[in-house]
Amino acid sequence: MGYLVTILYIVAFSMFIYGLSGLTGPKTAVRGNYIAAVGMLIAVVAVLIDIRDTDNWALIAGGLLVGVVLGVPPALRTKMTAMPQLVALFNGVGGGTVALIAWAEYLNSDGFTAVEAVPSAPFIVGSLFAAIIGSVSFWGSLVAFAKLQELLNKNVEKVFVSNAKAFQVANMILALVSIGLAVFIGINADGDPQSSLLIVGLLVAAGVMGLFVVLPIGGADMPVVISLLNALTGLSAAAAGLALNNQAMIVAGMIVGASGTILTNLMAKAMNRSIPAIIFGSFGGDAAAAGGASATGGTVKATSASDAAIQMAYANQVIVVPGYGLAVAQAQHAVKEMAALLEARGVEVKYAIHPVAGRMPGHMNVLLAEADVEYDAMKEMDDINGEFSRTDVAIVIGANDVTNPAARNDPSSPIHGMPILNVDEARSVIVLKRSMSSGYAGIDNPLFFADTTSMLFGDAKKMVAAVTEELKAL
Ligand code: NDP
Repeated sequence: MGYLVTILYIVAFSMFIYGLSGLTGPKTAVRGNYIAAVGMLIAVVAVLIDIRDTDNWALIAGGLLVGVVLGVPPALRTKMTAMPQLVALFNGVGGGTVALIAWAEYLNSDGFTAVEAVPSAPFIVGSLFAAIIGSVSFWGSLVAFAKLQELLNKNVEKVFVSNAKAFQVANMILALVSIGLAVFIGINADGDPQSSLLIVGLLVAAGVMGLFVVLPIGGADMPVVISLLNALTGLSAAAAGLALNNQAMIVAGMIVGASGTILTNLMAKAMNRSIPAIIFGSFGGDAAAAGGASATGGTVKATSASDAAIQMAYANQVIVVPGYGLAVAQAQHAVKEMAALLEARGVEVKYAIHPVAGRMPGHMNVLLAEADVEYDAMKEMDDINGEFSRTDVAIVIGANDVTNPAARNDPSSPIHGMPILNVDEARSVIVLKRSMSSGYAGIDNPLFFADTTSMLFGDAKKMVAAVTEELKAL
């Protein structure tokens, strides 16, 4: 049986890695996800075979049932625009589980004074690391979920954001308390049984730190934070696996930890931010706290579907800039149809993809791929930015923050320094959205008031369909 378990683990790990490699492109991502999920099922079966002599079958079956009942329906029903919230929640549950395992192991071994594992150091260090990071990840992820789901009152959120400095001080104290308790527990592990309150204190201090790290983080930084929390959960699971000597947890945890860390770095780089600056600097802080950037003033020109159609029909090149609103309206097929008509008239159509457009990494690529937009037409920010100045019309569809020139021009802007799509450099800009309201970062966008910009107000899908009808009539 021992061999069977090992073989199943090897199969499962191979499937994790192979599945993960499928996630590098939208075409193979779904298959990659299924392969990794089957790998996880095999790993669970291997664990069950490994612990076949247990008396706790009813408890295990109950746990699996609760997990399936609570996990599957939201995963099936959640819209893609709400996926980050779901990921934050599922991620938090992972971190919470790891923290609970560490707590249970502490209680089982009388405060790590009666550890069966030899040598005991990996067990104790792994458990304490898992307790701290798992607790940070659980509570931090809950706050991330509440923020993304807009459960947190905006005014309350602003108070947190504007008091980021106080949170930093509190976090340093909490980090010292958690680490201090962990060291105390560790060095007393060969002494008398220890109080169960010590581990509770450690979990509480780390949990409050998780809350305090995420509460003051400003809007535009949330994508990086979610990815960071993911990486932390992976690392805590790997640490718990080390403690329990469970290879499946070590491998799966390290894969999540390593890929999450790489993704966090890539996203931080895309936002031109360092990770410590995000955690300790509260991007999106002061101005957002003051109620968003000051009103930009100036006049706004509105345009109509027929004028937009004429403008684009006689252009040499049109760049489509998709954003969160395109995803909400599910306008990808309508956009593809509009682009096909323009192309039939000899207009070159390209799509400018910002790395954090939408609400999850790769959101726009996935949406456009769903509508069979050619990969060659989707241009990364660095590749397309030089082209705006040579472009007749840039049409911004449901995007806002990723086009905000204040990030480039206004040092007082809360998103200053974040790379943006240089839409404002195009000869003319059409911005399609429903109103003048702000995007995720909660700040005004001077692009809407520029001389070269006209606003096309309406729902993205309906308005693109209206433009398409006008193009057909030309
Ligand atoms: P924004 O959130 O900045 O703006 C989206 C705009 O879409 C809104 O201003 C809204 O204006 C408009 N909109 C909403 N619904 C519709 C609709 N049905 N039809 C037309 N327009 C609509 O989106 P961006 O993509 O520009 O930027 C993404 C933001 O989200 C960034 O701040 C990023 O940091 C953040 N973020 C990104 C994540 C990621 O991983 N990609 C994760 C979490 C946050 P109106 O209401 O007037 O229509």
